[in-house]
Amino acid sequence: MYVDISFPISSYTVFTYKVPTELLDSVQIGVRVKAPFGSRGSAQGVVVHRHERPNFEGRIRAIKEVVDETPIFDAKLWELLNWVSRHYLTPLGQVMRTAVPPKLTQSYSPPEQLMVKAKALSDSELAELEEKAPRQYQAVELLSQSDGSVPVASFQSVIPNPSSVFRVLEKKDFVILEKIPRLPDMADLTLDPVKKEIVFSEEQDAIARDLTRELAEKRFVPYLFHGVTGSGKTEIYIHLAQEAEAMGRKSILLLPEISLTPQIAARFRSVFGERVALWHSRMSSAERAWTWRQICQGTYSVVVGARSAVFAPLQNVGLIIVDEEQEGSYKQESPAPRYHARDVALMRGKLSGALIVLASATPSLESYYNQAVGKYECTRLKVRYGKAKYPKVYLVDMMKEREETDDYSVIVSSLLRDKITERLKQNEQVILLQNRRGYSPVMECRDCGWVEMCHNCEITLTFHKAGNMLRCHYCGLERQVIATCRECNGANLVLAGLGTQKVEDALRDLFPEARLIRMDLDTTRRRGAHVQMLKKFGQGDYDILLGTQMIAKGLDFENVTLVGVINADAGLFLPDFRAGERTFQLIYQVAGRSGRGSIPGEVVIQTNNADHPAVKIAAQLDLEKYYNIAMNERQELKYAPFSWMAKIEFAGNKQTIVEKRAESITRNLRNKPRFIEVLGPAPCPLERIRGNYRYQVVLKSPKEKDKNGSALHRFLEVNLLKRDKMNTQKGVSVHVDMDPVSLL
Ligand code: ADP
Ligand code: ZN
Ligand code: ZN
Repeated sequence: MYVDISFPISSYTVFTYKVPTELLDSVQIGVRVKAPFGSRGSAQGVVVHRHERPNFEGRIRAIKEVVDETPIFDAKLWELLNWVSRHYLTPLGQVMRTAVPPKLTQSYSPPEQLMVKAKALSDSELAELEEKAPRQYQAVELLSQSDGSVPVASFQSVIPNPSSVFRVLEKKDFVILEKIPRLPDMADLTLDPVKKEIVFSEEQDAIARDLTRELAEKRFVPYLFHGVTGSGKTEIYIHLAQEAEAMGRKSILLLPEISLTPQIAARFRSVFGERVALWHSRMSSAERAWTWRQICQGTYSVVVGARSAVFAPLQNVGLIIVDEEQEGSYKQESPAPRYHARDVALMRGKLSGALIVLASATPSLESYYNQAVGKYECTRLKVRYGKAKYPKVYLVDMMKEREETDDYSVIVSSLLRDKITERLKQNEQVILLQNRRGYSPVMECRDCGWVEMCHNCEITLTFHKAGNMLRCHYCGLERQVIATCRECNGANLVLAGLGTQKVEDALRDLFPEARLIRMDLDTTRRRGAHVQMLKKFGQGDYDILLGTQMIAKGLDFENVTLVGVINADAGLFLPDFRAGERTFQLIYQVAGRSGRGSIPGEVVIQTNNADHPAVKIAAQLDLEKYYNIAMNERQELKYAPFSWMAKIEFAGNKQTIVEKRAESITRNLRNKPRFIEVLGPAPCPLERIRGNYRYQVVLKSPKEKDKNGSALHRFLEVNLLKRDKMNTQKGVSVHVDMDPVSLL
């Protein structure tokens, strides 16, 4: 017998091998094998085809070893990986490298944890316990509020020394103790033994029932779940996953960045306990491998994770929820496959007959469009749960503020300052957004206008106070701050622009008493740091939480009654067709963090562009109005969602060579349907990153002519793939980005 093997290399070729007799039984499609390969001796690849006769003439070598006893994915997932390979024009081996943990066979045994489960006790037993051993009674009481097994350690905060208490109870045969493997987890995502009572409102109930009915149909249905922040979407996700479990089906919940959303993961934990697995980028490779194998064995009902969790090897997937579906982080920018987890989720749903719920308070224009043209079903939650009302929003024109106060370096407007003071006085909490880290993003010379740039990338260096350094946020380059201009030797250098560190300084000056915590990439590098910070903020250890966009989503703190946006314009003028949409969504999202409890909230948005529709209409919280404007713009310019788009990117360290190759490939594109528009080649807006010059060609194929995008796809396939243009040649790499999210 012969097999074709796909290796994780950037070539589409599969390689044929002989199967030695002693391995005949263990070679199946989907198992990994070791085989002699190139000059490296041997490499690991996946069996993708089996056939009786070789379809290759020449010397055929034999595979050496079979790595997996059972296939590492089932037929449906295998089909999905093949679709990803085709759709994103990426060799299957490379798709595998993204989707499947590389070291699946690495030995790892997770630490164990002690779990406790309640037993039914009689009234007399309880009464006796209450009288004689109040602490044990308290433990039994608390335990009775959760069903299933609960980690003993999670009682730490409510009962002193819980393990000894439960050991005594076990001796009395009042509880069951057991040791189970501790799931790879984030630092501190323990269960909360006390569960919240959820009784759905009428509106919530109607949606839950509609979606459950769809779930029971066991067919592919894409749903846009457009619900304002705080309306109870997460509670509905939990409900649906429970329903799916009852039907014997598995669920996946995708979150834009799991380390930023520990609250949601913890809520799932409190319901599904050990039946939910987490899947995120901060796991070690051994933890990943272990979790993958556990998922293959069917241990879990739910997988909660970031982008790549869409490939989790669950069998019989009935439900995939994509939370905050508009988020750019669902798109893998590099390396290939440059896939979009939302679109992969939709395809997975199609293949396994699953309900796909795309949820957001601010849907992407794509999904908004698909819902409008009837491709997706749509359901809405228009009001916040309970007493929570949508906040009152103030827009502050910082241009005017500067003129009126004659203070051109003002960071916090007088309105925002007053509001913060007021909230602090009442012991309420404040969230402030400044979507740029560091101290100052620009160091420039007042005399000649020279600006310190990164010499690998075409961007300015950001000043960081710690270490007194200038740093590149793309490549990490660091430079000492200099005292004189490199251009004119003048000493008139200033730090311009605002980063979180500078805002922090300003706030500490204004509110010396306030307890302030800053959350950005620089303060959260340590594993578990996010969770710790949010936990402390949630407990009320801080008054003000200042941060980048990582604080804008998913947080649910009842005591936050004021949200401030320090500078709404960061990102507004990026040369990218989604800049406006992103700005709108960010402002709208962060506004949703205010007033989630019973006290009405307020939002103050500071801007230099008070008339820009993305800012102005976000402040009116009028989503439909903005989306209509944005839709018209996109339609006029033939951008997504009105066209299928692709980007061909060329990169290399010699500008002229990159440019030439981009031109020659573009010139030689053949058989172009007339309706496909080819723009470029032109230098990318970020012309150089990490020492590489970048050029791009943007392709647009209007949906009215190219219904499902197949014309565009075929065109690229024929010109690039079939003619083998996508290999790195003469120092220029060429790659295709289907459905690009950013054109920077
Ligand atoms: P979203 O995901 O839409 O932002 P959440 O699910 O986080 O909203 O709900 C906001 C808050 O309201 C949460 O604390 C949640 O537990 C609570 N909540 C929502 N619906 C209910 C309900 N029916 N009963 C009790 N609490 C609810
Ligand atoms: Zn100068
Ligand atoms: Zn750089």
